[in-house]
Amino acid sequence: MILLNPGPVTLTPHVRQAMQGPDLCHREPEFAELCLRIIDRLGQVYPAADYRPVLLSGSGSAAVEAMLASFAPRSGGTLVAANGVYGERMATMLNLQGKPVVSVAGTWTEAIDIAALESALDAHPEITHLATVHHETTTGRLNDLEPIVGLCRRRGLKLLLDAVSSFAGEAIPVAAPLLAVAATANKCLHGVPGVSLVLVAEAALEEPSQSPCLYFDLHRYAKEQRKGFSPFTMAVQSCYALDAALEEFLAEGGVAARNQRYRQRSLAVRNKLVALGCQPLLEESANSSMLTAYQLPAQGYASLHDRLKEAGFIIYAGQGELARTIFRIATMGAISDADLQRLLDTLEAIL
Ligand SMILES: *Cc1c(COP(=O)(O)O)cnc(C)c1O
Repeated sequence: MILLNPGPVTLTPHVRQAMQGPDLCHREPEFAELCLRIIDRLGQVYPAADYRPVLLSGSGSAAVEAMLASFAPRSGGTLVAANGVYGERMATMLNLQGKPVVSVAGTWTEAIDIAALESALDAHPEITHLATVHHETTTGRLNDLEPIVGLCRRRGLKLLLDAVSSFAGEAIPVAAPLLAVAATANKCLHGVPGVSLVLVAEAALEEPSQSPCLYFDLHRYAKEQRKGFSPFTMAVQSCYALDAALEEFLAEGGVAARNQRYRQRSLAVRNKLVALGCQPLLEESANSSMLTAYQLPAQGYASLHDRLKEAGFIIYAGQGELARTIFRIATMGAISDADLQRLLDTLEAIL
């Protein structure tokens, strides 16, 4: 089966086999060695001396929730800039954590409105942090970080970024004002679900944790992971897979190479679907390299999904208010040229 959903992704044989590694206790030196190697390799994805990857067990949402728990301030406030499900979810998480939050939730199909953020900041001078999503998987929009980083600089804000669906596939400016970036093993890194990470500015780990809970307190993880250990049981087999996936990722040329491969595949699918009369949801320049949303054809989602599944491809439905009107195709994961050609032929046959 070829997965065209935005993670978990189709695995390479190398990554699948890696999960069969020896049984391992997470308190033994062999695990510490594995963990330190993963941290070292993760540090090479976006090389930056003053940032440190912190690993935890759980899906991408665990990384986002841990990032907000550990670094969004208990007093002062966090401004959430949302234009989709995942941005809105960050505001929900902060509310559940009992932290002060101001949410600017825009239309899902539109870019983030910087002027609206400026107004919110004028009305709330107590705000010190801005949280947003890099690749809003809801629509496939790659939010432009340049004006957001500019806003943070002008206003002296620290940036908390959900890059769960873009980490390792798109350029990310890992430098101030970026405080932390949440990511997962099972999207653009091509690992399996179970382990996620937050890339954190070292300086932020020196500050007291803002976490209202124990498990999602990244300061605890960061401290023990300097020696390769973690405060809680790690998803050992997922770590094996992530290690193997990172080995492949770095050997294949890192972010730039992966980005290019994704974009080529996405363009091939887009050109075919447009020729078959499917309208993309967003203008081409707004799209990420690895996911595009399309207006549903007349046959509807269930029929399209089922017929593609019969041919060995899994596509992805829209979420929330877009559930009835769009479908999504992601081009992450181990998809060969032959798989891609077969997908294009199958789309043509179905549509
Ligand atoms: C996938 C994703 C998440 C995390 O979702 P999980 O279901 O926990 O894997 C968070 N943010 C974005 C933008 C995502 O695409």
